[in-house]
Amino acid sequence: MEKFDVIVVGAGPAGLAAAYTCAKAGLKTIVFERGEYPGSKNVMGGVLYRQATEEIIPGFYKEAPLERPIVEQNYWFLTDKSGVKMGYRSEKFGEEPYNNFTVLRAKFDRWLAKQVEKAGALIINETVVEDLLYERDRVVGVRTDRPEGDLRAEMVIICEGVNSLLTQKAGLRGDIPPEHLAVAVKEIIYLPAEKIEDRFGLEKGQGAVIELIGDPTYGMMGTGFIYTNRESISIGVGALLSEVVQRKINPNELLEHMKQHPLVRPLIEGGESKEYLAHLIPEGGYKAMPRLYASGVLVAGDSAMLVNGIHREGSNLAMMSGKFAAQTAIDAISTGDFSNQMLARYQERLQNSFVLQDLQKYQNATGLFEENPQYFSQYPAMLNQVMHEFFTVDNVPKKEKQKKMLEIIRQHRSLRQVAGDMFKLWRVLG
Ligand code: FAD
Repeated sequence: MEKFDVIVVGAGPAGLAAAYTCAKAGLKTIVFERGEYPGSKNVMGGVLYRQATEEIIPGFYKEAPLERPIVEQNYWFLTDKSGVKMGYRSEKFGEEPYNNFTVLRAKFDRWLAKQVEKAGALIINETVVEDLLYERDRVVGVRTDRPEGDLRAEMVIICEGVNSLLTQKAGLRGDIPPEHLAVAVKEIIYLPAEKIEDRFGLEKGQGAVIELIGDPTYGMMGTGFIYTNRESISIGVGALLSEVVQRKINPNELLEHMKQHPLVRPLIEGGESKEYLAHLIPEGGYKAMPRLYASGVLVAGDSAMLVNGIHREGSNLAMMSGKFAAQTAIDAISTGDFSNQMLARYQERLQNSFVLQDLQKYQNATGLFEENPQYFSQYPAMLNQVMHEFFTVDNVPKKEKQKKMLEIIRQHRSLRQVAGDMFKLWRVLG
């Protein structure tokens, strides 16, 4: 049986970053991807973060198939008929070396996979890794769904995304409860570039993103999103799986509902729907992470629950963790030391970076929003009603108007409750 130094399972951002790092270090590396090609199975908004990507391939943005550099980011707090908009725009984000980009993963992952192959790794598509191979209690390879599909390696890096069965088979985690998962649906709607630029107020080639809170999820914990690509718009919505199940709401219905919103409809009007996709997002955060390593095996990306839902970051955590896992595999293979002490370096690397520091910082966020639904339901409504009153010129003296605005707040939450909510938010996010 042919033997490799490293087997990577899954060719998403985590797996490709891991394979690239291993191959560049001269390790004999193979990647298995169940999709027809890397990116074919992926569903991401998607915003790609430059700095994390440059950690893998410096200057990637000069060649990679990116959609638009993002110059404007927005949060919209919506009721069914109105919205309070908050955002930031900077021309600097539109200049080299840029900040973040919108991407279509089907194109981007394919390009990244080419770089991985150029670095010397082998990528085998349309192959599912079904199990891990063991010698005593050490992982020594994988079993694929190909005939004679067993393959051995010194190290296996699991990067198979959110539903990682191998992580479970390796005994690193149990079942993921529905309150640790969000379900998201996304549609790609084609529109000419000039129309996108007109509708979003952009210069040629520039991009904007909008996160939508409140009405798009019927007040459930979650968000909608609208991202501008070159000649299409990615539009989607995601909410906590446990709430979606409990309220018996079909996620497709959420997206259709959001597309009809009076602030959203004009942005996509006349567009042609090209793709409809659904996916899970691991939202459990730091407290829900599996064990990150066991003898002969490391886990990275979504398989390790490395998603920062508060900041909509996943691909960057995936790439950084893929790189750190690879560096740890390189250390282990070059020294012949596969002990737990050596593999613990992976966790240390994550801990010394923003990856675990951020997840640790927000470790109570999921719990806070689950236990306090008012943040996604009552607050967007309150904010909209207060702004409606503020902008209505109706010959009411301003002093009286301020009283009315205070009354609106009180109708939703007492001032004591508002103070408590803000304090809890500050404690968890601050
Ligand atoms: P994945 O990208 O899921 O890749 C896993 C790969 O493994 C897949 O290609 C899959 O086909 C393959 N695979 C799975 N099982 C096997 C197996 N047994 N054998 C072989 N191959 C296998 N993140 C951002 O940074 N920005 C965003 O804007 C953003 N928006 C998002 C919007 C949505 C709707 C969703 C669902 C997610 C979003 N994320 C975003 C999160 C981001 O997509 C993930 O965090 C990121 O893709 C994780 O990368 P990964 O490599 O760990 O997993």
